[in-house]
Amino acid sequence: MIRIHKPKTSPEKLAIDGKQKRRSHCASYSRNPSAYETGTKKFEFDRNIYSHKTVKQALIQAQHQKCCFCERLIGTDGDVEHFRPKQAYKQATGEALKYPAYYWLAYEWENLYLACTGCNQRHKQNLFPLQNPPQRATNHKQNIEQEQPLFINFGTENPEEFIGFRGVIAYAIEGNQRGQITIDSLKLNDRALPEARLEKLQPLRGLNQVLLLAMQRPNDQEFQELAKDAKDILENAILDSAEFAAVVRCAINSKFQYVIG
Ligand SMILES: [Zn+2]
Repeated sequence: MIRIHKPKTSPEKLAIDGKQKRRSHCASYSRNPSAYETGTKKFEFDRNIYSHKTVKQALIQAQHQKCCFCERLIGTDGDVEHFRPKQAYKQATGEALKYPAYYWLAYEWENLYLACTGCNQRHKQNLFPLQNPPQRATNHKQNIEQEQPLFINFGTENPEEFIGFRGVIAYAIEGNQRGQITIDSLKLNDRALPEARLEKLQPLRGLNQVLLLAMQRPNDQEFQELAKDAKDILENAILDSAEFAAVVRCAINSKFQYVIG
């Protein structure tokens, strides 16, 4: 998981159609709050707005075609994910769904990311745990600024300060609670992710060895050329655009000591 930098300006579809929808959802809620709170009445969200091709394209570009949670390359296959869920939410897995959720943020650019199907539909779903549940904003008249979300918000925070990797395994840095909850909820050490990370790390470890050997042979021109290529590949593998960039950065910083296999 790495920090995501989205353009400040929202795609036009959200700014125009999304804004209009938001206004109508807020008005419907205000007319009959209890029906929405009991879940007897539900909002109908328009996927053609929040998942419009221009919105998706802007997210694909900002996220370098990667899932916001697991950093797998997903190309154009991802789902538009709501960081704060739109219809219903849960404080913890296993709890009953609560209604309504953050309906007023369904078309808000700051709340949208691109996620792979596994992360979005099977694991994050409606989960949105808070450190301070009584302060949760439960309608559009309340302020989300008072909330202390437990999930790391990669749009405003640097996830690499919370989640590190020992080889292929994600861990919460200094046991921090938010990192741990994010890892556990999204099953970041499951779903064949360690295997996929290993596939990425193994050849890079070999290249790192070439670099180390080259330092011992400063006069071997051929080896120095090889080392130059190896260095270029390693440098590219830690760019934001590279798959599993956070994993590779940790592996390089720890000199690949945890990469086995
Ligand atoms: Zn994912």
